[in-house]
Amino acid sequence: MAKLTRLDDIVSLCKRRGFIFQSSEIYGGLASCYDYGPLGAELKRNVRSAWWKNVVQMRDDVVGLDCSILMHPMVWKASGHADKFADLVTVCKKCNTRTRVDHLQDGPAAVEHTEHINIETEKAQPHDLTKKVCPACGAVGQFGPPMAFKLMFETQMGANADDQMTLYLRPETAQGIFANFRNVLDSTRVKVPFGIAQIGKSFRNEVTTKAFIFRTREFEQAELEFFCKPGTDDEWYNHWKQQRFNWYLNLGIKKENLRFRDHDPDELAHYAKACVDVEYKFPFGQGDWQELEGIANRTDYDLRQHQRGMRTMTEWFEKKGDLTKITLREEDPDYHKGPLSFFDEEAKERYIPYVIEPSAGVDRSTLAFLVDAYDEEEVNGETRNLLRFHPHLAPIKAAIFPLVKKDGMPEIARKLYDDIKGKFACFYDEKGAVGRRYRRQDEAGTPFCITIDGQTKEDNTVTVRERDSMKQDRISLDQIKNYLREQLDS
Ligand code: ATP
Repeated sequence: MAKLTRLDDIVSLCKRRGFIFQSSEIYGGLASCYDYGPLGAELKRNVRSAWWKNVVQMRDDVVGLDCSILMHPMVWKASGHADKFADLVTVCKKCNTRTRVDHLQDGPAAVEHTEHINIETEKAQPHDLTKKVCPACGAVGQFGPPMAFKLMFETQMGANADDQMTLYLRPETAQGIFANFRNVLDSTRVKVPFGIAQIGKSFRNEVTTKAFIFRTREFEQAELEFFCKPGTDDEWYNHWKQQRFNWYLNLGIKKENLRFRDHDPDELAHYAKACVDVEYKFPFGQGDWQELEGIANRTDYDLRQHQRGMRTMTEWFEKKGDLTKITLREEDPDYHKGPLSFFDEEAKERYIPYVIEPSAGVDRSTLAFLVDAYDEEEVNGETRNLLRFHPHLAPIKAAIFPLVKKDGMPEIARKLYDDIKGKFACFYDEKGAVGRRYRRQDEAGTPFCITIDGQTKEDNTVTVRERDSMKQDRISLDQIKNYLREQLDS
């Protein structure tokens, strides 16, 4: 299967060139955790920056936030995660492998897609597993009863036994935004409609992992909660759908590999008015199309839930912080005037804003950018592997080479490198044949290679070779900075 080979090609290029490594590899590796190497760290940082620039810096109506990963446990009680964030799993009686029920296939199992379950409603539904195949050993219909598997990682806070508290590593960044909604309103001049954005690590004890960095247990999310007046939510939902789709296209994702998938009404969470996934055609799985980002109209659900959470704090103390014994208090009938409401000066009315949430995965989009940029072509009877990254995403923007290590060329090249390295991520290389140096930069996705050669001393020009076309131009050494600025800043 050619497509599976493609993911293998990417995994091997990522390791070979230092984009992505298995975590703790020297100890045999830690499943579904990955480390970003020198090129990968730059690439991921560029993906993050491109998102932040587009969603926060270029807009007048979005502000940023950076919340702690550990939060008060009541956050997760109010959000519903403490009681409901779980996958329905079953264990194969033959090989003891645990699999998500919604990932089981009648035929050969593949990489998956579905939402996490609501334990309460799922428990009641019967699941016929008699024709399902175990993805690990191939046994058919040999499964134990489905059961809920909680996805949040727990940890303990506090040094003394009597003040220890169970905390959760956040399974999404969004709740930190809702918990700070009041703080942001009180400390800035934002007014509805406005958004709060955050990029940060999230953790889920996923049952099924695989497919490289597509689904990992520790990952990074880029989330926006956009607060708007009820009644204007459909308009903002459509606005963000388009914005987010275009973000991927503008960073070079091929249009034929990107699509929307609207959620069916029975897939929607009970509080959501609408939800759509931006899907990418990944080179794995049976269906190919996999979620890259979800965009949801979450109504006023989250802020209302946190108002209920705040009303439940007496019980938190009475039950000594045992979340299993705490029941969220009913809503105040005047909830729309509660502490997380917004007073609209113009309309002279108070309401709980509706929320449009575009929620993207930084690692998952990094994988999509890698896959989409990957190319192989025949050049003079040899295979050229290259990553056709958009210049904004390329880990290294320019590589600088002296043609040979003599005749004053390294000195000029070094000087140029020192001159531009503070402006653009660049790389100096004087080892080996220049053709091989070009190939190495093609594999790293570097858009420009600049070579100082014998002619440089005569007329002060250098060769600039463009990655995709391999076209070479002679440009004056004094103009290099301007040239790169024009090519990279656009
Ligand atoms: P899935 O159905 O793939 O498990 P989800 O619908 O649960 O994902 P959301 O909760 O909507 O995902 O999270 C928003 C985004 O965060 C996803 O679109 C994805 O890009 C990213 N994401 C979620 N879980 C993971 C994970 N385990 N590893 C990497 N990225 C993830």
